[in-house]
Formats: sequence, C-alpha cells, structure tokens
Amino acid sequence: MSEIGATTRIAALFGHPVAHSKSPRMHNAAFREFGMDCRYVAFDVDPGQLAAAVAAVRALGLLGVNLTIPHKEAVLSMLDEVDAEVQFIGAVNTIVNRQGRLIGYNTDGRGFMRSLKEAGVDVAGKRVLILGAGGAARAVAAYIVREAASVVVANRTRGRAGQLVGDLNQIRSIVTTAELSEAGQEAFLKDIHLVINATSLGLKESDPLPLDVDALTADQVVCDLIYHPTAFLQKAAARGARVLDGSGMLLWQGVLAFELWTGRDAPVNVMRRALLDGDTQ
Ligand code: NDP
Repeated sequence: MSEIGATTRIAALFGHPVAHSKSPRMHNAAFREFGMDCRYVAFDVDPGQLAAAVAAVRALGLLGVNLTIPHKEAVLSMLDEVDAEVQFIGAVNTIVNRQGRLIGYNTDGRGFMRSLKEAGVDVAGKRVLILGAGGAARAVAAYIVREAASVVVANRTRGRAGQLVGDLNQIRSIVTTAELSEAGQEAFLKDIHLVINATSLGLKESDPLPLDVDALTADQVVCDLIYHPTAFLQKAAARGARVLDGSGMLLWQGVLAFELWTGRDAPVNVMRRALLDGDTQ
C-alpha cells in the first residue's frame, strides 16, 4: 500500500463504540487494490462531539464518512443536503464530501437488496414479514415494498410500526402491521415466504429471540441483519429454513459507499475477502 503522505485522503467511520468494526479492513483493502492514496480509519465519537467531528470533515477535507450507532439520525441536521432515500429513512450511513458540501446517503437498503439478489432470493410476489421499525427496518422496507406481494411490519413499539406502515403505503399500498406475539403464531407464519429480523435482538447473546421459531418451516427464507449467525438464525436453520445473516448487507452497503466516494466500481471480491479473512494488510 502507498505510504501515507502529504496528499493522502482520509475516509472515516464515526460511531460509539467502533472498536469491533470491520469497515476499515474492507475499505482499506479496496483502496490498496486500486493503489489509491487513501486510508479509512474508525473514530470513536462521543455523541456530544458529533457536530465537531462533522465540522472536521469539512475543515480537514475528508473524502467521506460512514455513520453507525448512535449517530445515524443525529447527523441529519448537520449536513448540507440529503438524498430522497435519507428523507424517507430518517437516517444517514454515508456522507460524501463534495468540495466542502456534505451530502448524506443511506446505502443500507440497497445493500440489503444486493445481498438478497446475490443469494438468489427473489422478493417479487413474496409475502414478507419485517420485524422491527428502526432505521435499518425502514431502509430495507423501502425497497422490499416495491417488489413484494405484501408486507407485514411487527415491532415492539406499536406507534413506530404504525408510522412505518403509513409511510410504506405511500409507496405501495400493500403493508399492514401485526403484534410480535401474533407474528410468531403458526396460523400467521404459514402464509409468509420471507422473514427479516431488523430488530437489534440477537446482538447480545442474552437477548430473547425476536420471534418464536417453532412455527417456521423449511419453505421459508429467514434473514437477520445482524452480521453474525444469531441464535434466531441457527434455530431457523435447524427447522429447515434457508437463512441469511447480515454480512452480505454489510459488504454491499460498503461497496455502495465506496462507489459514492470514489466514482469507481468497487472491487467487490477484494472487499468480501477482507471481511471474511480478516486480511488487514
Ligand atoms: P434502531 O435502534 O433504529 O432500531 C432497533 C429496533 O430493534 C427497533 O425496532 C426496536 O424496537 C427493536 N428492539 C430493540 N430492543 C428490543 C427488544 N428488547 N425487544 C423487541 N424489540 C427491540 O437500530 P437499527 O435499525 O439501526 O439497527 C437494527 C439492527 O440492524 C441492529 O442489530 C444492527 O446491527 C443491524 N444493522 C445491520 C446492518 C448491516 O449492514 N448488516 C446495517 C444497519 C443495521 P422499538 O421501536 O420498540 O424500540
């Protein structure tokens, strides 16, 4: 990789915490592949320092930034412009610095759809259950609703599910809501083709399952946006369901961010290998 020098451009991750992040590995592998004079670093930004960190993006001429928990929503008001997708989702995961003008994007939804496509999962005509109504659920649902036959949203906080359902029905009027307890019942689940866990349940080992898995069947595809194989996915696989974890979404949201920053087609397989191998050189 080229030496860090006076012309090196920096891309960054702002989150809190960030020590676990695989994004530096993935993006530095891509920069190295193209011989670009760029580096990607992760900054642990305290929520109270987010505005100062965003000001530094302008002041220091950073190439761009990824945002993760807890900054995805708070950053919105600090940007010069956000694209239409961000306006729908209400969360930003990528900032592009265009000569000091900071533009917010969200590549999570498109990243998820690319991961489904790559796995050969076709959403067209399918009945889909989405668990959760936070930023990731909104990002994914905004794309699912365009292709599915029907969508059901189930979330712990009813009002948040209701808001998402209302917004999705503006795109295509095929969306309803259900209680999480109802969504786990056999009579309900037998009509569902694709289940997506977009809650944060499963991040911790002690978390309960987002849905009772006993009613899942071998005909279903079950996705979890969490990167590692959660207990939910393991139990769904044991029932014969086809399962997909969030690592594909992580890869593709990063691919799309890289392309926004550089204007080049990302070296997808290099980035994938970096995520899988832990190759950080
Ligand atoms: P948010 O905080 O915006 O939303 C969290 C969601 O989880 C809400 O629907 C919330 O329900 C629900 N939830 C949290 N705790 C519980 C609980 N104890 N019981 C039931 N429901 C609960 O987070 P995000 O939407 O940003 O992220 C959601 C998940 O998606 C995370 O695990 C994250 O790691 C993953 N993700 C993966 C990505 C990838 O690239 N693979 C990209 C982005 C996110 P309520 O509304 O009631 O609070």
